[in-house]
Amino acid sequence: MTRLQGKVMVTGGAGYIGSHAVLALLDAGYDVVVLDNLVTGFDWAVDPRAALVVADVADDARVRAALREHGVRAIMHFAGSVVVPESVSDPLKYYRNNTAASRALIESAVAEGVPHFIFSSTAATYGTPAKVPVAEGDPTVPINPYGMSKLMTEAMLRDVAAAHPLNYAALRYFNVAGADPQARSGQSTVGATHLIKIAVEAATGKRDAVGIYGTDFDTPDGTGVRDYIHVSDLAAAHVAALALLIGEPTRSHTLNAGYGRGFSVLEVLDAVDRVTNHVIERRLEGRRAGDPAELVADNAAILRTLDWRPERDDLDGIVRDALAWERKLAEMGR
Ligand code: UDP
Repeated sequence: MTRLQGKVMVTGGAGYIGSHAVLALLDAGYDVVVLDNLVTGFDWAVDPRAALVVADVADDARVRAALREHGVRAIMHFAGSVVVPESVSDPLKYYRNNTAASRALIESAVAEGVPHFIFSSTAATYGTPAKVPVAEGDPTVPINPYGMSKLMTEAMLRDVAAAHPLNYAALRYFNVAGADPQARSGQSTVGATHLIKIAVEAATGKRDAVGIYGTDFDTPDGTGVRDYIHVSDLAAAHVAALALLIGEPTRSHTLNAGYGRGFSVLEVLDAVDRVTNHVIERRLEGRRAGDPAELVADNAAILRTLDWRPERDDLDGIVRDALAWERKLAEMGR
C-alpha cells in the first residue's frame, strides 16, 4: 500500500465527517493530526491515537507551525459551516468559515510545501441540477451561499494546483448520514438540522416530531429526494482518494460521493419507523429556503477512479447506525 512520508492533517477532525475520516485513516495505518477550533466539534470525538491541535484553520501562524511540527504531507479539509438555510440567512459566515478560511489553509499548505489536499465539497455546488443523476461535468450553479462558498474553494484549488506543486481531490458529498458501525463516533452536533439525525432524535425522544419541509416538490411523493451515503463509506472514499493523490502526484480529481439512488423524505421516515418499530410523529411544513427538489449522484466517476466500493448502501442500515449512536449519546448524557 502507498504510504505517506509524514502525517495527514484533518481539519474539522473533531466534527461529524472529519472524526470518521480520522478513524478510517488510523485504521489504514496513517499518522494523523487533527486541527479543530472545537466550535462545533468535540475533543472527545477525536480518537486518542491522533494528535489534536486546537486552532482555527484561518490562523496562519498556528496552522503553519502545526504543519511543520507534525511533518504534514497531506491535508483533509473538513472544517467549515454546513447548514444550508443558515447560509441563506447569514451568507457572510459561510464566505468567512468556508471560502476565506479555505483560502488561508491552502496558502499555508503551499507555503509549507504540503503536496496533497482533499477537500469536502458538496452536491450543493450543482444547485438545481439540469438532470438527475447529476455528473461532475454538469453545470455548477449553486442556489445557496453554502454551495457557492464550496464552489469558490474548488476554483481556488484548481488554480492553485495549476500554479504550485500540489494535487487535490474535491469530493462532492451528497447527503451524509449514519455513524461508525462500531459506534466509535457519530453525529453529535447540537441543534442538528439534517433529516436522518433529526428523525433518530425524534425516535429517541429528544424531540417530539419531525417536520416535513415541503410536500409540493416535483418528485414522486412531493417531498425532497436525496442520495444518502453512509459516513463510513464516505470516510473510506477519502482514504482511497489520498492513496490516488500520492500515487499520481500530477493529477487532481473532482468526484461525486454518493450511491446513485435517491430516497424521499417520506421514504427516510418510513425507514426510521421500520428500524425503531415505532411511528414518529410527522408535521407537514412549508419548503425551506434553498432546497432543491432532487439531488442524486451520478457516481460512475468515483467508481472508475478510486479503489473504492460502497459497502453500506442500505438505508435501513444507515438509520440503524445513526440510531445506535443517538442512543450512545443519550447514555453519555449528551
Ligand atoms: N428535511 C425535512 N425535515 C427536516 C430536515 C430536512 O423534511 O427536519 C428535508 C429537506 O427539505 C431535504 C431533505 O430532508 O429535502 C434533506 O435535508 P437535509 O437538511 O438533511 O440535507 P440537505 O439536502 O439540505 O443538505
